[in-house]
Order: sequence, then C-alpha cells, then structure tokens
Amino acid sequence: MKKATYQQTKQHNRDLVLRTIFASETVSRAEVARITSLTRTTVSEVVNGLIAEGLVDEVGRGESLGGKMPILLSIVPDSRYAIGLNLGQEKFVGAIVNLRGEIKETVEIPVHDKNGQQALEAVYQIINQLVRTRLKPIIAIGVGTPGLVNTSQGTVLNAVNLDWQDLPLGKLIHKKFKLPVSILNDSQATAIGEYVYGGSAESEGNLIVVNVKHGIGAGILINGRLFQGDGGGAGEIGHVVVQENGELCRCGKRGCLETVSSASAVLRRLHMDSLDQVLAAYEAGQAEACLVIANAAHYLGISLANLIGIMNIQKIILTGDMTRFGSGWMEMVRTSMQAAALSRMSEGVHLEMGTLDYRACILGASAHLVLNDYSLLFTRED
Ligand SMILES: [Zn+2]
Repeated sequence: MKKATYQQTKQHNRDLVLRTIFASETVSRAEVARITSLTRTTVSEVVNGLIAEGLVDEVGRGESLGGKMPILLSIVPDSRYAIGLNLGQEKFVGAIVNLRGEIKETVEIPVHDKNGQQALEAVYQIINQLVRTRLKPIIAIGVGTPGLVNTSQGTVLNAVNLDWQDLPLGKLIHKKFKLPVSILNDSQATAIGEYVYGGSAESEGNLIVVNVKHGIGAGILINGRLFQGDGGGAGEIGHVVVQENGELCRCGKRGCLETVSSASAVLRRLHMDSLDQVLAAYEAGQAEACLVIANAAHYLGISLANLIGIMNIQKIILTGDMTRFGSGWMEMVRTSMQAAALSRMSEGVHLEMGTLDYRACILGASAHLVLNDYSLLFTRED
C-alpha cells in the first residue's frame, strides 16, 4: 500500500473531525479525540482550522469529569448552505437549506402540463431565484427527480411524466450556476432526507423508504449510505408487475405495482379527481373506496415482503400522498406484508410513516453531496 501523502492525511483527519462534530449537538475536543482515535494535538490543530473557516464554533462549557470544564464545539448551522429541489407531480419546489437541515427560503412553481424544455426552464428559474437571496455561501445543488437516474453522470435516463430522456441535467445546471450538482431519483433523495433529518440515523444504518404517491419508488440505505444498484435504479419497485394482465401502465407494461397501489391508480379506479374526494369517501366507509384502498394496501404489502426477503432490512418508512389514508391503510399494508414474508424475517420489521413530508426529498437532495464529500464545505485551497 502506498503511504498517504501529508495532504491526504490532513484532509482525512479534517473530514473525520468534522464528521464527528456534525454527528452531535455539541462535543468537546477530548471526546472528538476519543471517538476518532486521533491525538489531542491533531484534534486541536484541525479544530483551529475549522473555527478559522467559520464552520465550527465554541458554544459554552460542558460537564466536568474532575478537571476543568471542557469547551464544547458545535457546527455553525448557517455557515454554509445548499440548495435542494423536489420535482413533484403538481409543482417543483426548491429551497435553501443550512447545515442542520433547516429550510431557510423556498421557491415553488406549479408545473401542470409543463414538460421537456419547459420543465427544465422551471428548474433554472427556481435555482436562479434561490441563488440571488442573501443566504451565502451556497456550496452545492441537489435535485430529486422522478424517473430513472444515473447519479454518477448526473443524467435523467427516463422520466416519463416530464418527457425527459437521457437529459444531462447535472451538467446543464452546473454550466449555468457553476456549483457542484447531484441528481437523484426522488425516492432515493427522500430516503436520505428521512434518514438524516427524520430521526432515523440512530437506527442500525439500514433503512428502506417507500414513497407512495402518483408513482411508487423506494430508496435503500445500507450502513447509512444510499444504495443505487448497478444501473442507479435500486428501489424502483413501482414498475414491477404484481398483477398478470392487469391495467396498462404508463411504462407500457400491464399490472405494475403503480397501477394498483399508487395515488393515481386509486383516483383512476374510483373515477375521482382528487385524493381529498377519495379520502372523504374512504373515511365515510363508502364500500367501493374502502375496497380500492384495501386492494392498494394489499399489493404494496406484498412488494414490501419482497424487499424484506431480498434485503432483510428491519426498518421501513412509508411516505408520500397515500400516507394520508393513515394508520388504517398502514395496518392493511403491514398485514399483507407479514402474510407474504417469512415470518421470522418480517416480525422484527418496524413499519412507520415518515415525518418530513415533501421536505424529505428537498433535504435529502441538498445533503447528498455534502454528506459524501465534506471537503465541499471548505474554502478551496489553491
Ligand atoms: Zn409500469
């Protein structure tokens, strides 16, 4: 193995210390040294640099364990910002997010019937408005988009609703705004958001978030890292066929999960225009509405059982519009999931609803680049 250069070691230590300070509200230099196994001297040196960069601050004194009370360190939440976008079915929403996941400024544009170039222009317009606010510096832009995405190339391979094929979205945004850009599938971005900011980070580090809205997709985190598979589509469960000779899907196949369990499937089956209408009928106990929702929950549960069989992940979070049908819906999903999975594997599964709503996608998209590369936070040393 090659010996790390001085520069590499310095960067590695810096990332490690910053990651440790990030992970807690407040922490002392001594604790950082203990957690990272770096020497006290190294930690102090790195921390001085972080304070000089404005990233970390001394925020008071902690409990003493005998000696003098240690000085506590904390991330300065508003020292850096990132932009996150959620390209939803009805509207595109963009926001400026600080280092603690607080949304500081939001811009949204309704996108009915906008597709192709018009949809792209709407994305530019949102970013344009956000970069012109007083919130600086902005260090990265992340986009959560529906469809199949190649994140390493920043390309949207196929987003049917937006009529985007092989769109180099990352490169286009980068060219216009000169910032690092990450493009993620919206369900994958949502999974990161729920993991980092939804209070799930303390779990084992494995998590599946299933986003059930007009489409259906899942985001899978393994050891706290997004797993995208070989083609970027890990978690694309919405277009797996669950009903032979079922309804025609927008992807061209018949009987995809999306044609049964998504919000649009429910609307179509009940010939209704809005989920509010469906919800009212369901809550009033209208037989047909109850049947369609039960059927939707049933097939979703079977798909979750498949995920459990493959991944054996014990924490699953449900998000998206269909969660409006509440705990009754979730219990039907759970019942069918448990009936379809090996009981020893499904009985320990925690199935819950997400806490962040549409914000999860924005937060996850904004955090993705920074979490993978803490060096983005630093002023460039040339
Ligand atoms: Zn399909």
